[in-house]
Amino acid sequence: MDAPLIDPFQRAISYLRVSVTDRCDFRCVYCMSENMQFLPKKELLTLEELDRMCSTFVGLGVRKLRITGGEPLVRRDIMTFFHRMGRHLDTGAMDELTLTTNGSQLHRFADDLYAAGVRRVNISLDTLDEAKFARVTRWGRLPQVLKGIDAAQRAGLRVKINTVALKGFNEDELFDLVSWCADRDMDLTFIEVMPMGDLGNEDRVGQYWSLKDLRSQLADRYTLTDTPRRSGGPARYARIEETGQDIGFITPLTHNFCESCNRVRLTCTGELYMCLGQEDMADLRAPLRQSTDNRVLEEAIRAAISLKPKGHDFDYSRQEVAGQMSRHMSHTGG
Ligand code: SAM
Ligand code: SF4
Repeated sequence: MDAPLIDPFQRAISYLRVSVTDRCDFRCVYCMSENMQFLPKKELLTLEELDRMCSTFVGLGVRKLRITGGEPLVRRDIMTFFHRMGRHLDTGAMDELTLTTNGSQLHRFADDLYAAGVRRVNISLDTLDEAKFARVTRWGRLPQVLKGIDAAQRAGLRVKINTVALKGFNEDELFDLVSWCADRDMDLTFIEVMPMGDLGNEDRVGQYWSLKDLRSQLADRYTLTDTPRRSGGPARYARIEETGQDIGFITPLTHNFCESCNRVRLTCTGELYMCLGQEDMADLRAPLRQSTDNRVLEEAIRAAISLKPKGHDFDYSRQEVAGQMSRHMSHTGG
C-alpha cells in the first residue's frame, strides 16, 4: 500500500462516507424541501466511477466505507456496487462495508446486502407513531420501514437506529424509543438537528433539542454510565444499566468532536468534503476522468486531505444559527 492519508493535524483518514445519490423517496422536513431539484443524471459518477474512486481510497488506507445519500437504496443497480465493494472485504483491504438508510427499501435488499458482506446497517427513524412519521418524512410510511427493519434483522444484519432529536416532536417518545430498541436488541443513537440547507420556513433553532437535556431526562429514569466506546466519529456512548443498551449521542452543536475525526465525505458528483461543517471541497471527478491512470486521482486525493480543516463552525450558543451550511445533508451524505 502507498503511504496512508494523514491530514495536517496528524489524523489518519481511514473512513470514507460516500453519497451515491442525492435523490430520496422521502422528504424529511429537516433534510429536504418538498419540491427538491435533483441533479441531472449526467452529473453523477457512474457506478463504475464510484467503484474506481472508492477502490483508490481503499488503496490509500481507507478501511471503512459507509454508503449513504440521499437514499442509497433508490439508486438503480446499487446492489452491483455493494457486491463490487465486497471484494475489498474478501481481500482484507477493508474492515467494514456499511450503509445509512431510511429503511424503505430494506425489505427488498436486506438479504443481498448481507451477501455482499454488509453486517451492520444504520436506519433512520424519528418516531414510532404512524401519523407523526408521515408528517416528519412527508412521503414516508412507517409500516414499510418496520417491514424493512424486520427483514434486516432476519437477514442477520445488526441494526442501529438513528433518531434526530426534535423539540416538540419526539420528546414524548424518548422512553418508548429506548425500550422498543432494547426489546428488539437494536442500538440507538440520537442526533442533534444540524443547520443544513436552506429549507425555507423551517425554524432550526426552534427544532433544536439539546442532547444534554435529552440525556438528563434519561438519567432521571435510568442509571447511565459513560462507556469508552468510540467510533472515531462524533458519537459518544452511555450504557443504560437497567437494559444493558448503549445509547449514542451525536452532539455536533454542544460538543466539538473534531479532534478525533478520521473521515471524509464524497458526494455523488465526486466532490470530496473534508468536513461536514465547512464549505471547502475538492473536485475529484475531473482528475478521475482526466486519466485512466489512478496516479492523477491519488495526487488529487492527497492534495485534498492536506487541506482538511481542524474543525467545524456550527454554533447555536447565541440562540441563532451560526455556521449554517447552504448545502443539504442529502448532498454531502449524513
Ligand atoms: N436517507 C438515508 C437516511 O435517512 O438514513 C441516508 C442519508 S440521511 C441525509 C443521513 C442521516 O442524516 C439521517 O439519519 C438523517 O436523519 C440525518 N439528517 C438529515 N438532515 C439532518 C439535519 N439537518 N440535522 C441532523 N441530522 C440530519
Ligand atoms: Fe431522505 Fe434521509 Fe434526507 Fe430523510 S434524511 S429526506 S430519508 S436523505
